[in-house]
Amino acid sequence: MKTSRIHIPEPRSSFISIQCPECGTSRVVFSASTSKINCEKCNTLLLENTGGHAKIHGTNASRVD
Ligand SMILES: [Zn+2]
Repeated sequence: MKTSRIHIPEPRSSFISIQCPECGTSRVVFSASTSKINCEKCNTLLLENTGGHAKIHGTNASRVD
């Protein structure tokens, strides 16, 4: 699985859109979430928070303002 990281300067106020690499479903998630976030459709892991940094597992991650 391809994994990428993005740096988020304002973690408390950032929402990001992540596309599931498996089924293509997009989800808007809170980047500072302390829990893991999975795809609503196929349960693929999309985001996890490691030591304050959001680790993105999905594709086409972008900030939502
Ligand atoms: Zn999915």
